[in-house]
Amino acid sequence: MSPPPIPLVDLGAQYRRLKPELDAAVQGVIDSATFIGGPEVQQFEKEFASYLGVSHTVGCANGTDALELALLALQVGHGDEVLVPANTWISTAEAVTNVGATPVFVDVDPQLYTLDLASAARRLTPRTKALIPVHLYGLAAPMDEIMAWAGEHNLFVIEDCAQAHGAEYKGRKVGTFGQVAAFSFFPGKNLGAWGDAGAVVTNQAEIAERVRMLGNHGQLTKHQHQIIGRNSRLDNLQAAILRVKLRHLPDWVAARRAHAARYTELLQETGITLPHTPLGHLHAFHLYVVQVTNRDFVQAQLAHANISTAIHYPRPLPFVPAYQYVGYTAADIPAAAQGADVILSLPMYPELTPELIGRVCLALRKTQSQRATPQRKQAVGQVIPSVANQARG
Ligand SMILES: *Cc1c(COP(=O)(O)O)cnc(C)c1O
Repeated sequence: MSPPPIPLVDLGAQYRRLKPELDAAVQGVIDSATFIGGPEVQQFEKEFASYLGVSHTVGCANGTDALELALLALQVGHGDEVLVPANTWISTAEAVTNVGATPVFVDVDPQLYTLDLASAARRLTPRTKALIPVHLYGLAAPMDEIMAWAGEHNLFVIEDCAQAHGAEYKGRKVGTFGQVAAFSFFPGKNLGAWGDAGAVVTNQAEIAERVRMLGNHGQLTKHQHQIIGRNSRLDNLQAAILRVKLRHLPDWVAARRAHAARYTELLQETGITLPHTPLGHLHAFHLYVVQVTNRDFVQAQLAHANISTAIHYPRPLPFVPAYQYVGYTAADIPAAAQGADVILSLPMYPELTPELIGRVCLALRKTQSQRATPQRKQAVGQVIPSVANQARG
């Protein structure tokens, strides 16, 4: 009999723990019969702003829209270039393209996976208008350096916080550094709705007001269409769900960090490259990403042990068909290109248990010792003799 499955993310487990709270919140919205905007949206916007330590939150339809609305509010558009990391979810670049500007891909740090400023500097032109650092996998990009560099070159900084709810950099939550920041509440994110949802956050009242107008047909009050906007609003139902979950977010981030620490402890001395958290960072571990050179074999073996894994992301954006026209080669983004062949995301969600993590690590260690040199077998044996013996036997 195969062992029970270990998914990458387990939203069912999360719901079972919060069922009474969530069901009551949803029923309340149904009873109120207020579905677009509404009191839950207003409350959530206040509570999320206060959680982050930022003045304004404006809910919108999803994280991709949040990025687009942020760019539009800053009037980034035709003729402008925006620096974006080569390894991220496509939304980061797509939002730039969709406002009529040009995404310019820059390399990432090979260990931290966040945007590499030296590579950004090489891509700077007189048209560069903004920079979108992504706090990928839950680790903050180096915001002091980024803000200083952007200031020097007069660039807007739009933080993509879609994977980093609760991440901190030098004691401050991400989303509080740039002129504006975008969050996604896609169900599987650290804070997730029951469908699509997102938010723009900022300390500048004018930006918040502009985002609010843009996402609501250019109006602040009904039928006063000041500018051409669009429809990108947060539903009352999603806001009610997000309010319940926001109360648990600090515990969930703590649980993710504890799970990551356990992974890191159990995967020492295996030859697997583990996530690195520099001093001054509080990693929110949306994903726990390792590097393995025999990745196909590892994924197959883990799948055989009923353990799900994923790759975030299998191809740097300049190499996906939609962006191939930029004409990059691996030499333009060496770290992102190399990383794409070896990165692997392990199961990560707050409801994971030490037992489940133990099972993942045992299966992973076997994949390394099976193809290891004699020296490495010895190294494995020094740490966990039982694993090494199993592998030999
Ligand atoms: C999820 C994600 C987004 C977009 O969020 P949606 O709500 O799915 O539109 C943007 N950027 C990054 C890095 C993401 O992971």
